[in-house]
Amino acid sequence: MYEDLEKKVVVITGAAKGLGKAMAERFGKEKAHVVLNYHTENGDHKEVIKTIEAAGGKAAAIQGDVSKEADVKKLLSFAVDTFGTIDIMINNAGIENEVPSEKLTLEDWQKVIDVNLTGMFLASREAISYMLDHGIKGNIINMSSVHDRIPWPHFVHYAASKGGVKMMTETLALEYAPKGIRINNISPGAIDTPINGEKFNDPKAKQEVINLIPMGYIGKPEQIAACAAWLASAESSYVTGLTLYADGRMTKYPGFQAGKG
Ligand code: NAD
Repeated sequence: MYEDLEKKVVVITGAAKGLGKAMAERFGKEKAHVVLNYHTENGDHKEVIKTIEAAGGKAAAIQGDVSKEADVKKLLSFAVDTFGTIDIMINNAGIENEVPSEKLTLEDWQKVIDVNLTGMFLASREAISYMLDHGIKGNIINMSSVHDRIPWPHFVHYAASKGGVKMMTETLALEYAPKGIRINNISPGAIDTPINGEKFNDPKAKQEVINLIPMGYIGKPEQIAACAAWLASAESSYVTGLTLYADGRMTKYPGFQAGKG
């Protein structure tokens, strides 16, 4: 636990399930004030709010599509109106779909780029602008993927979006370092969340993924939430522009384990 996170205002996109939910719940345990953005009106966010409040944090939620500029502006205004400021912006919302690249429509390409890259840019810009106006040495965390460096056939739009997120994060970190705004990137490997539901329900497909991970298991959402808490805390106060690979060493060529090659 990080004492300095208590009462910090944290905005998290895509926070009703998966990694967003795990991070929202972790910041609840840190007794932060958490603003959840959710996309689908199915009530899932209400359970997350209850968990945060039971842990001693505060929470509020607002629906919105991160690829729409007006929704992003509304999200940040909602955070300020509800809890008075914005200290930490976590851009987590993301989508993927498998399509051989020669069949990928412009519409599918655009949708993934709009949500995964443009959405993260819009919320980063709005948060930075607010922090500059109010002299806040804030914190921005973007959720990239190991596919910001591992090419991924059939997911070219996803890999391109995450490569973009990595370079956007590193560029913004350089630009705003003199203002004390820290901007970092988390690149998870394979984590057990609904985005992988179909794949991990098939034992053969799941084992194929595990074979790519030197540590030998699929990551847990809480392990990514722990990275976010550290990056948001003062314990990482000299860290900016980092791309933190939380991947069981997937990015380091497991095929060469045990002297092969
Ligand atoms: P998930 O599908 O469980 O959750 C994604 C969240 O994004 C959902 O809450 C969804 O409603 C939300 N979302 C989708 N479109 C949105 C939009 N237009 N506006 C607002 N919210 C929207 O997936 P997850 O695994 O929790 O993924 C979270 C992030 O982590 C994504 O950016 C994903 O690319 C990244 N990631 C996940 C893994 C993994 O293995 N789970 C690995 C690497 C990177």
